[in-house]
Amino acid sequence: MYRGRFAPTPSGPLHFGSLTAALGSFLRARSQGGSWLLRIEDIDETRSRPEYTDLILKDLEALGLIWDEAPLIQSQRREFYRDILDTLNSRGLTYGCNCTRSLIKLNGGHHPEDCRLRNLPCHEGAGIRFRNPGNVTSFTDLIRGPLSLNDYPAEPDFLLKRRDGFFAYNLVSVADDRASGITEIVRGADLIPDTFGQIGLCQALGYPVPAYASLPLALSENGSKYSKQNHAPGLDLSSPVTLLLKAATFLGQTFPPEISGDPESLTVTEFLDYAVKHFAINSVPRSSRMVSQISES
Ligand code: GLU
Repeated sequence: MYRGRFAPTPSGPLHFGSLTAALGSFLRARSQGGSWLLRIEDIDETRSRPEYTDLILKDLEALGLIWDEAPLIQSQRREFYRDILDTLNSRGLTYGCNCTRSLIKLNGGHHPEDCRLRNLPCHEGAGIRFRNPGNVTSFTDLIRGPLSLNDYPAEPDFLLKRRDGFFAYNLVSVADDRASGITEIVRGADLIPDTFGQIGLCQALGYPVPAYASLPLALSENGSKYSKQNHAPGLDLSSPVTLLLKAATFLGQTFPPEISGDPESLTVTEFLDYAVKHFAINSVPRSSRMVSQISES
């Protein structure tokens, strides 16, 4: 049974980029007759705000992107992450790390390799890193085909828990995808470098490895990822079907003139029913595009 998910970080409202991730994962899950789950990635309390969680849920509902089951809220799951970290500790797959940001910067932006040789204990207050066996150097993406780590360099021994005490994204993401029984992960291509490490972590924990599909990124005028950090504007929900049409078009889906010419004559449900029925993952483009260059027809 297919189980997919959308996992926003509530550090701001949904914007066009996060909408394409929500819609892409929704259309794929529904087109497979599967479940679509929602996970609120609010583990980093320095970035997340409850009011953005409320807003994200409201926007998704207004757009007809209705999730199955109760959303998983990461800030409520610390005990669970602690247990998984303990499992990794007991298998010798972690080490403590006191490297500061400035030290890593001095080392050319890379975590110094000799840190793992020091084998510091994972005591409170230390960062904790994954002692990555490094077996995962490639995977096949459903949209992009075979991908090699050589083309997407990432820190092999990534953080599982930060020095400030927060569990890190890669740990909680892998743990929650497993807990929710996610079979396929459809998300933005910016997470391709993390995927190699996440597969390695799945293997270390004996989890089944989900399938991955990496969506094109929506870019702002200056070519950077459309994101909250770049102050991407929130969604204008006054014409919800027009917005959905724009996001689906960005994802390479095509619509007949009756729909593209007058999207607001459809309800969000009618539009989504059509989009699910005709969803073609093979038409999703590999290359990222500027939002300003999308036309709806
Ligand atoms: N929370 C991440 C984001 O908002 C997505 C993580 C994921 O899909 O694995 O970009």
